[in-house]
Amino acid sequence: MHIAILDRERCHPKKCNHECRYYCPPVRNGAKTIEFPDQSDDFPVITESLCIGCGICVKRCPFDAIKIVSIPDELNKNIVHQYGIDSFRLYSLPELGTGRVNAILGQNALGKTTTMNILSGVLTPNFGDMERKNDQDFVIEKFSKSIMGQYFRDLYSGKTKAVLKNQYVDLIPRVVKGTVREIMKNNDHGNMDIIIDELAMSSSLDRDIKELSGGELQKLAVGITLMKDADIYLFDEASSYLDINERLRISEIIRELSKSKTVLVVEHDLAILDKMADQINLVYGSPGAYGVITKEKSTNKAINAFLSGYIREENVRIRPTSIDFTVKSSKRTSVTTGVTSWTAMEKQYGNFQLNIGEGYINREEIIGVLGQNALGKTTFVKILSGVIKPDSGSVENELKIAYKPQYISSDYDGTVYELLSNALKEKMEDVFIKNEILSPLNIEELYDKGMGDLSGGELQRTSIALTLATDADLYLIDEPSAHLDSSYRMSVARIIRRVMENNKKSAIVVDHDIYLIDLISDALIVFKGEQGVYGESIGPMGMREGMNAFLKELGITFRRDEITKRPRINKLNSALDRQQKAEGEYYYMK
Ligand code: ADP
Ligand code: SF4
Repeated sequence: MHIAILDRERCHPKKCNHECRYYCPPVRNGAKTIEFPDQSDDFPVITESLCIGCGICVKRCPFDAIKIVSIPDELNKNIVHQYGIDSFRLYSLPELGTGRVNAILGQNALGKTTTMNILSGVLTPNFGDMERKNDQDFVIEKFSKSIMGQYFRDLYSGKTKAVLKNQYVDLIPRVVKGTVREIMKNNDHGNMDIIIDELAMSSSLDRDIKELSGGELQKLAVGITLMKDADIYLFDEASSYLDINERLRISEIIRELSKSKTVLVVEHDLAILDKMADQINLVYGSPGAYGVITKEKSTNKAINAFLSGYIREENVRIRPTSIDFTVKSSKRTSVTTGVTSWTAMEKQYGNFQLNIGEGYINREEIIGVLGQNALGKTTFVKILSGVIKPDSGSVENELKIAYKPQYISSDYDGTVYELLSNALKEKMEDVFIKNEILSPLNIEELYDKGMGDLSGGELQRTSIALTLATDADLYLIDEPSAHLDSSYRMSVARIIRRVMENNKKSAIVVDHDIYLIDLISDALIVFKGEQGVYGESIGPMGMREGMNAFLKELGITFRRDEITKRPRINKLNSALDRQQKAEGEYYYMK
């Protein structure tokens, strides 16, 4: 069976010659496969049952507005929702139970938010019949054979209440006004003080919402959700902008909550997901076209299947290659071809004091930077890039630096293509840049979009691509994982490595996603101190020394999965955790 997806933002029926219909072979033979209903400015309607899936319309459309995707016939039995004619559709739903953390894992644009909206009652599924609007009895009947029948009966009757923590925390200040304390008070159910304490929010209580960092907004959004008196809690990405410490704290709170409530999470940090979830539904499909929620699996099996790129039970390949973790040399290779070095440096900002230990970077070396928020990581990166001058000490070389900042925004008044072609000129046609940067980041599909219209993830991909395609000696990449799903995070790690190896260049990558840092780094810089008061950098040093320094502060240890070699957080006080701590091996076992 073929499904057709028309991108209504790209389709401009007034500006083309209706090439899709003109060249469609069945139309040429008299079938009504593609019709322009009333006037020439109406969108075309593709009748899927009359489509032979040749893909000619896809190639002929001057605006790349059509997608034709083949799916197995039997999927259609499980269609849960379709937004409109020739639009995205979702197949299957997870079965949610209480007493465990349920999770969904997969690429973006495969329907995770749609699923969350259905499960919270915001969207009533139509089972592919677009005439069926808000038919709750039909939903209950459709799911009557599974536990989800009772779930929807209780939800729709008001017997149970669902709350949803939205993914887009950076949009909160546009709709909510006041200080953190005022906003929390408005949502208080008698548990405000406990939640402020659990989430360590006291330092931001009297700040206006407009002044909050991404991490503080995330904690506010999670706090408001937790304060609500509900039965079902849905968390769409609760870890973005938070450091590892905060991610661990929130995952513990969510685990505790799941003992008495129904909980579903979407989480892209795989180390955190591994620790937090009891079972995972993988999602596969074609982004923007369709998504299939598979049956639940144990957390370990699901993450391993996701990394391998193949879901055995469904016989579906979700990625051409697997993502492989290797246990790297634990020592720093002491090559002498340094690209730069710096002396000990100091920087004072109001009440914040930053001390940077001396260090150097080798050619072709990628240095990961780990540490809590507000210890000066970004300030350090800015000093190396020359954006900020230190109060004392200095950086040796005047290097050519390409810098991707942590918070990216765009006031560029043009399309993605215009921005890139102005910046990169003839390098846009460079085969390496095309094949190893633009193509794996799917930048070509964004070419016609205005920079101001990009989502957070699209903007992130564009800025990573622009930074890596720029000629430089040292690449400073601050939080590339923000807004990206797990698939993109893992491919960004691979892309950065390939660019540095191929061009013989060096990079410093700051991130909180331990899988990304593990995949990417040859050496580590670790930040310690007191948040917002004092920060200190140690390193670069070897991976083993760096991980030990970092994890000792956090009090957690990791083991390696036997099959994929991915790092897994040990259960606190488990035999392995105690043994590794006693031996001082927080990351690498002897
Ligand atoms: P990180 O990247 O680890 O979060 P930052 O470098 O962003 O750390 O911030 C460290 C501390 O310095 C924070 O407490 C922050 O409020 C303060 N700070 C950072 N930049 C400035 C600035 N331009 N003016 C005043 N304070 C700043
Ligand atoms: Fe017509 Fe081929 Fe497009 Fe189907 S894929 S609508 S048959 S041109």
